[in-house]
Amino acid sequence: MNPRSTKATPRTGWNFDNSYARLPGALHVRMSPEPVRAPRLVLFNRPLAGDLGLDPETLAGEQGTAVFAGNRIPAGAEPLAQAYAGHQFGHFTMLGDGRAILLGEHVTPAGERFDIQLKGAGQTAFSRMGDGRAALGPMLREYLVSEAMHALGIPTTRSLAVASTGESVYREDALPGAILTRVAASHIRVGTFQYAASLGDRQVLQALFDHTLHRHYPELATAANPAAALLRAVVERQASLVAQWQLVGFIHGVMNTDNMSLCGETIDYGPCAFMDAYAQDTVFSSIDQHGRYAYGNQPYMAQWNLARFAETLLPLLHAEEEQAIALAEESLLSFADAFQRFWLSGMRGKLGLFTREDGDLELVQELLACMQAIHADYTITFRDLTASVLADSPVFQDAACAQWHTRWQARLARQPQSGEDVRRLMQERNPVAIPRNAFVEEALRAAVENGDYAPVERLLMAVSRPYEDGPDQAAYRTPPPPIAGYKTFCGT
Ligand code: AMP
Ligand code: MG
Repeated sequence: MNPRSTKATPRTGWNFDNSYARLPGALHVRMSPEPVRAPRLVLFNRPLAGDLGLDPETLAGEQGTAVFAGNRIPAGAEPLAQAYAGHQFGHFTMLGDGRAILLGEHVTPAGERFDIQLKGAGQTAFSRMGDGRAALGPMLREYLVSEAMHALGIPTTRSLAVASTGESVYREDALPGAILTRVAASHIRVGTFQYAASLGDRQVLQALFDHTLHRHYPELATAANPAAALLRAVVERQASLVAQWQLVGFIHGVMNTDNMSLCGETIDYGPCAFMDAYAQDTVFSSIDQHGRYAYGNQPYMAQWNLARFAETLLPLLHAEEEQAIALAEESLLSFADAFQRFWLSGMRGKLGLFTREDGDLELVQELLACMQAIHADYTITFRDLTASVLADSPVFQDAACAQWHTRWQARLARQPQSGEDVRRLMQERNPVAIPRNAFVEEALRAAVENGDYAPVERLLMAVSRPYEDGPDQAAYRTPPPPIAGYKTFCGT
């Protein structure tokens, strides 16, 4: 058990042990959140608080409000802003937590360690021209979508609370301000390594490397070449993560290297969105004018980011640069196979396939081509296919798509599992309720414009059990008419 556990306050349950704060000072700047005028706790994740070993009752009141707004530092926290760099849309920049403060690492009663970060907590040493603040809408959006991702079974940062600040933030208009409390296995990014490497100080890079290995991949500490092993493991986790995004139609929107977490969690919900009609080139983000982070590009961009990560590790991979590059390339090349393996295995599940056949990849590709041709809704199509297993009902009007349906049924008939088994597997793998743009926007509008949180709570309830098809999901089952020219905006 962690030696600092005596620090735990019995009433709130905070139990901080801040290993990142003990890393070399070049990696962070100690600083506290800026207090806000009139904090109000507008969303609080009681189940998550409970899982973390915090006391939901106490934190739902004044104690939690003060902490989640940045007005009070909980005992044991050592607040800081993390330094990092990153490639933003391909261009290298020095960044850092410009509007986030890491309170510290909370260790749960089970011994798990989580970063507790306040996003929108005021200006820091890394704010550049920014105000360090966040608007209420985008923070509610991150809360909704990150919790939906978690419920879908996809690794992600979590959202513990949103506190409104009673202050305005000035974007194009004056907007209500808010702070999100984000919970993450860590906030170590590809960009953190890029920053450390850019300093040209071997000791700082080594310290960050040791910290990351120990924290997220302790089993690799005894590997013959720990840097090569870490790179391989990070490649594997990212391949798995992006495969899971593709399988649910999630578009991150801003896959800059500072938004790729080394522990393999989805991080930084800015202009993200779920795809409605299936199309490889789907882009929502208003700032992604060239479609760099389009749905179909996500695996390639992940691999590009991993190459930037590999570059930072070269001095640790091998003393001879040529050998280091060869090792890096070998690991990077494993991405494509790993991605394909995770993705095809996930697609088999979505199509109710328990067995493997050589033609499965083609079967999946033909379905996707059909869907793209007829602009089929991605999520609904898989649910309709699920329903068709026992009902034997037609899913497609289009002749080519109907032919595909017949081939798929023949494929199902070649495996020993019953129709009931197939239906059950498909129900577990194909969500009913996802946070589609139109639902999210409608819910956010009620909260931001009228202070009515009922629609946010309703949507949250539905997407928290995305594979169920009960009364909570009913209103979110069918897609609303798409919003013409819908754009998502960066979460500022
Ligand atoms: P993001 O697009 O949220 O990943 O942020 C990219 C960079 O911009 C990070 O270094 C953020 O800390 C910084 N940033 C975003 N919004 C603000 C803001 N309102 N004030 C200061 N820095 C910001
Ligand atoms: Mg970011």
